[in-house]
Parts: sequence; C-alpha cells; structure tokens
Amino acid sequence: MHLRGVVLPDGEPRDLWVVNGRVRTQPVPGAQTVVDGGFLVPGLVDAHCHVGLGPQGGVELPEAVEQALTDRATGTLLIRDCGSPIDTTPLQERLDLPRIIRAGRHIAKPKRYLPHIGVEIESDLPAAVAEQVAIGDGWVKLVGDWIDRGAGDLAPLWTDDELEAAVKVAHAAGAKVTAHVFGEDALPGLINAGIDCIEHGTGLTDDTIALMAARGTALVPTLINIETFPGIADKAGKYPVYANHMRDLHARVATTVSKAVEAGVPVYAGTDAGGGIQHGRIVDEIAALHRVGMSATDAIGAASWHARAWLGFPSLVEGAAADIVVYDEDPRTNLDVLRSPRMIMLRGRVY
Ligand SMILES: [Zn+2]
Repeated sequence: MHLRGVVLPDGEPRDLWVVNGRVRTQPVPGAQTVVDGGFLVPGLVDAHCHVGLGPQGGVELPEAVEQALTDRATGTLLIRDCGSPIDTTPLQERLDLPRIIRAGRHIAKPKRYLPHIGVEIESDLPAAVAEQVAIGDGWVKLVGDWIDRGAGDLAPLWTDDELEAAVKVAHAAGAKVTAHVFGEDALPGLINAGIDCIEHGTGLTDDTIALMAARGTALVPTLINIETFPGIADKAGKYPVYANHMRDLHARVATTVSKAVEAGVPVYAGTDAGGGIQHGRIVDEIAALHRVGMSATDAIGAASWHARAWLGFPSLVEGAAADIVVYDEDPRTNLDVLRSPRMIMLRGRVY
C-alpha cells in the first residue's frame, strides 16, 4: 500500500509505503494508493488504560476484546495497561487488537485499594514486584496511596525502604515501575526510590515537581479521571478530611499539571479507562491536556509520538510498525479533528 500525506510530528508532506505491516520510505513497485492527502499520525497511545477491568471489577475475555476494539476505533493502537485483574495475554495474539503492554496486577495492601483487583500483601513488597515482573510486559503497578480508614485520609501504603528495595528488584529485571498516587505524602518516597512514572499525581507540589523534573520521572495525570474526584468526595460521608482532601486535589489539578509541564516533566496521555471511565476516550484526555496548558501539538504528541518513543515504539520511520491514523484536516490546528479519523491502519491492515 502507498500513502501520501502530511506526516506528523514533522509536518512534512511525504510518501510512505506499507509492506508486511511495516513502514517503508522507498517506493514499492505496484503499491496501491490507499491515502492521497490528509494528515498521517503515528498510532495513538493510551498510556494508562485497563483492558479487562470494568465498573464491577474483572470482566470476561470477550468483554475485554470489546474494550480494546472500542479503543481502536478512536485511533488508540498502543495501550500501556496499568494493571488488570484478568490475564489479557490472549488478546495479544490477535492482530486486529491494539498492542497492549501489560503491567500484571496492581500491588496493594488489604483494604488499601478497590477490592478484588490487585494482589494484596501485608509485607515483602520486593517479592510481590518480582512476581508481577515475571508475568507482565516490563511494567509493574503499585498502589502508592489510598484512604487509610483509621487515619481518615489518604496515606502512603509503603515505607521508603520498601519502595527502594522494590524498585531495585524491578529495575534489575529490566522492568519499570509506576504507582497510583492521589495525595502529597507518598510522592517523595516513590520518586526518590527511582520510580519511572507517577499515575494521577494530583498531590504534586513545587518540590516534588522539581524532583520529578530532575530525575526524568514521567507523569500520566489521567485528567478525565480526576473529574470524578468530587463524586468520590460526595460519597465519603464518614471521612470528611479525606473528602475535603479529594476536593482540594481536584480544585487545583489544572495548576498542578500545568506546573509539571512547565517544569519539563514528561507528561503522557492516559484515560484510566476500565473502571469508572469508559474506553475510547483518548481524545477527551488530549483535549484536557491542552486545556491545562500543553500546546495542541504536544498534547497530540503526549498521546502519539512522544508516548510511543517513551514506550519503545518508533513513529513513522523506515521499518516501524505501520500503525497509522489518517485525518482529513490538521489536528494540530483543531483537536476535534481527532474525533473523526478517516482511516485507521494497525499492523498494516486498514480498519
Ligand atoms: Zn488506573
């Protein structure tokens, strides 16, 4: 196949060819032109997504397939799965489904996360991390903080020493670590332990933002999920301190994320689809990142070429996977264009 159009991110008009699911930059005799004009964007990335998780917990595989297809329909062709209660490896065999980088299961403590989703341990975090490294695709997901019902507020789950040992175990095995964090207190321990990414990060302060920027720690703020915080607070009747804390984190999230962007923290787009958030909302997250101060181009990049590079997937260069989304108009000048892809190509197949 042959495609001609303006290729992002560089914005140059170019010709690409696709052979055996790979991008070629040199003419291929006899190729059929399937795109002539428009904008070619490297397949979108949802950097925080849960395939296999529904509002009631783990789902059956057919429903997980539907979730992945819903994501594909919006142009999401690469998913960093941030923890799933079911084994989604069978989905990775299907060439029609987005690529999924799995993180195994969340690692939490009893009563310190949503029930029936993660593995729950009392102690020996490094051993639990080693187990999840072995079954995942190079990422491990910790629950960094959660409501401590005794204290009536968000509180860290792990000590600094536990975190340091756990991150060491993962890195020694070639895996990266990320953590769910809403509040302020868990962040210094996680970042200083050398964690690779922070999910949500609503409790970031000037100090912890500076620390992340200095260490190159990534942030996936899941802005469309943070919109659910007031609803969580409304249902937290017995825990007024926690409720107010959640409302405060929500009230300042735009400032928090805009400061992180400004400080040079690498920020990527993730929807947190699977629990309270529907699949297929990556464009809403891109728009939300733009609203908090990312340029439109960077917001698209946070869900495309920047995220792909971060996760080890090249953009539309010679030999790269032919995962391409084609739009009629330039999405950099109007993000709504992202809602109507003209063509979605995954592994060189057109959908
Ligand atoms: Zn999540």
